[in-house]
Amino acid sequence: MRTTVVFDVGETLVDETGLWASWAQELGVPAFTLYGVLGGLAAHGEDHRRFLELVRPDLSWPYEDKQPFQLTAAYLYPDALECLRAVKADGWTVVVGGNQPATFQRLVEQLDLPVDLVTSSGALGAEKPDPAFFHGVAAAVGVRPEQCVHVGDRVDNDVIGARAGGMLPVHVVRGPWGVLHAGNPAVDLQVRSLAELPALLGKVRQAESSA
Ligand SMILES: [Mg+2]
Repeated sequence: MRTTVVFDVGETLVDETGLWASWAQELGVPAFTLYGVLGGLAAHGEDHRRFLELVRPDLSWPYEDKQPFQLTAAYLYPDALECLRAVKADGWTVVVGGNQPATFQRLVEQLDLPVDLVTSSGALGAEKPDPAFFHGVAAAVGVRPEQCVHVGDRVDNDVIGARAGGMLPVHVVRGPWGVLHAGNPAVDLQVRSLAELPALLGKVRQAESSA
């Protein structure tokens, strides 16, 4: 039986506009240039972290060590908190974990979200779409991946990856990847807003109990 819902962070719970604006400022490039480059990388299915070498080839620093952005609750999507509270109130164990360094995980923890666990690829030592990430998240809450629903915006990491890792994926259509991946045939369950999620999870539970 499914007991646990795992939420991705970027463009699932957090609107990353502020993060990328901070990066543009840090790198001294127009925000539009950086956003366009990120969109191009997303469309080509390339690692978005290539933005550094593309917009500032004259610089080199480890991405993991640089974090110009200060995450606050103001950057949460307007439907995020209400969804987390509703899902928790419905009896699900709620986990937040994205492909982020441990430094960013600490920023997420400081938001004091109504969840049972905050983790990250940095803490788990494995990045989505590696099945080890999904297995690690499940193990951290003491369940099997098959007991988890995974909610995220990227088909490569959050849908195909989560499914391969044993979880039931729900795709969220928002953010550059979410929009670009919206019609991908790998997507089965999909929402356009987290406000739709509690009802969808109710259907998942109902389908399982009648199966
Ligand atoms: Mg994301």
